[in-house]
Amino acid sequence: MRCFYHANRDASGICPQCGRAACRACLRDAGSIVICPNCADLRIKATEAASRQHLNDRQAIINRAKRQISVSHVVFIAAFALSASGIAGIFLRGTPVHAPLSAHISGIAFNGLTGSLSVAYSVWSMYWGIPPFWRFLMRARARMGIMLVNPFMWIGFFFLVMVSMIAGVYASLFGSGIFQYIKRWKLAVGRF
Ligand SMILES: [Zn+2]
Ligand SMILES: [Zn+2]
Repeated sequence: MRCFYHANRDASGICPQCGRAACRACLRDAGSIVICPNCADLRIKATEAASRQHLNDRQAIINRAKRQISVSHVVFIAAFALSASGIAGIFLRGTPVHAPLSAHISGIAFNGLTGSLSVAYSVWSMYWGIPPFWRFLMRARARMGIMLVNPFMWIGFFFLVMVSMIAGVYASLFGSGIFQYIKRWKLAVGRF
């Protein structure tokens, strides 16, 4: 039997992958088996494609995390601006109070700043904290599945929605929003 790749050489083995005969010079050690040069090339290409795919998947996770972080910053700024303009509007339409103007302005500025910051923090933390609760709800709904054709089950599900949304809001405000934000930062810098 002759080598498939060298017509003038005797084969010293058969490639277990494609069944072609190959000479001693052609056969390649591929870990647990010995294969022909063509199959060895295919293996290398497959490994490269797999690692490229892995890199693409990683990059997609990093890009998604970066996008979510940017959006959350926009949400924070927008909520702050809306709240601050609302407070400024109330101040401008309010009746004049007989107090030194400077005290008035500094008081409004301080209240406006702290008020707007807390509004912005609340909205921002819910941007991060509500989605995990929402996903929990959707998984619960998927598990309930066919049972939801029963109208009484909808009452139960509605109750679950109310409870988990309220829980989601409180959890967001008291740290789960910050936790989610830090988690995304770790993803964004590739620490996973
Ligand atoms: Zn082969
Ligand atoms: Zn050969």
